[in-house]
Amino acid sequence: MANLNCSKVLVVGAGFSGAVIARKLAEADIAVDVVDSRSHLAGNCHTARDEVTNVMVHAYGPHIFHTDNEKVWEFVNQFANFKPYVNRVKAITNGKVYSLPINLLTINQFFNKTFSPDEARKFIEDIADNSIVDPESFEDQALRFVGKDIYEAFFKGYTEKQWGVSPKELPASILKRLPLRFNYDDNYFNHKFQGIPEEGYTAIIEKLLDYANITVKLNKNVEKREAKDYDHVFYSGPLDGWFDYKLGRLGYRTLDFIEERHEGDFQGCAVMNYPDSDVPFTRITEHKHFSPWENHEQTIVFREYSRPCGVSDIPYYPIRLLEEKKLLNEYTALALKEKNVSFVGRLGTYRYLDMDVTILEALEASEKFLALKSNNNKI
Ligand code: FAD
Repeated sequence: MANLNCSKVLVVGAGFSGAVIARKLAEADIAVDVVDSRSHLAGNCHTARDEVTNVMVHAYGPHIFHTDNEKVWEFVNQFANFKPYVNRVKAITNGKVYSLPINLLTINQFFNKTFSPDEARKFIEDIADNSIVDPESFEDQALRFVGKDIYEAFFKGYTEKQWGVSPKELPASILKRLPLRFNYDDNYFNHKFQGIPEEGYTAIIEKLLDYANITVKLNKNVEKREAKDYDHVFYSGPLDGWFDYKLGRLGYRTLDFIEERHEGDFQGCAVMNYPDSDVPFTRITEHKHFSPWENHEQTIVFREYSRPCGVSDIPYYPIRLLEEKKLLNEYTALALKEKNVSFVGRLGTYRYLDMDVTILEALEASEKFLALKSNNNKI
């Protein structure tokens, strides 16, 4: 519950969650201290120019902004010039290049056919494993939807590498719908708005935080006891971290990016997936293709490897299987008892959140807080 006479707020984390909340509160004349343990702004959306190639690098993995939400789109466009960008991903499997998400081109190339949409749909229905009636695992669900050949080429190895477990151990609910398209649409996201900010994401966060009433401190890890000097805290750090991990650690996958620089163009696209299980990385990102409006003679690429998150690693993807959900419920119960603390963002709520959802939730959290404050002032 908020301290409604609040005059000083602490925001832990200078990612999208923290920066949006800080800005909205500061605009309402509240003094806000923003603190982040990292040496830079923008959390996992941080972008910076590579000193050697001058390419804008997505330091924590590729980030494409996409949303159906007009309010969010209008909001971010106040702080950046978004260049149109369509995410077209490719995959190399069994020695051949295919188009993702799996579409009519992928199906025709994979099976060496010239199917029309209806023919392809009928073909997939025939090769799908119709003996699986009530799929429990991700593997069963995929086999039921797409059959063995597509499953093994595109899903099995990638999922094993990404999550470190067999798809037999993952719930069927991960694959809710048929993951195929029966047309030639290879736009990875089907949202109304899609783009990349011309000057990267960190520039957006800089602009959000460049406002009277906001102070920013980097390289500082905030612990619970330091919050007592503030009337309210918005915490976008790890939920279990706030409680000093006293019930155990919520599980995450972390990523390692091994960088290489080359002359010219390395792979001809921004993201190439590698689903084969004998290739240790999951994908290669070539950053200059995220800024096709720029010219660079050299290039920088990241090979991306997924592994379990250790104590000193950066948490990326929450695992959220049964065990973690149980622990999450226990931490959520503790969080509900905290006075004057709001848990926000991907780490504070232990969910995978796209940037648009993160921004929407941050806008809503600040609106709710300000509405409570304003109602209280009227009493
Ligand atoms: P974060 O960005 O993680 O910010 C939290 C900040 O809090 C961090 O800077 C951290 O250092 C700081 N912090 C934590 N604990 C403390 C503490 N105790 N004291 C001080 N500081 C602390 N979304 C999209 O919309 N499109 C994409 O293409 C996309 N690609 C992604 C690719 C990858 C590989 C990943 C992992 C995510 C991707 N996302 C994408 C999601 C996007 O990264 C998140 O939506 C966004 O980072 C969430 O912002 P946040 O502020 O909640 O968290």
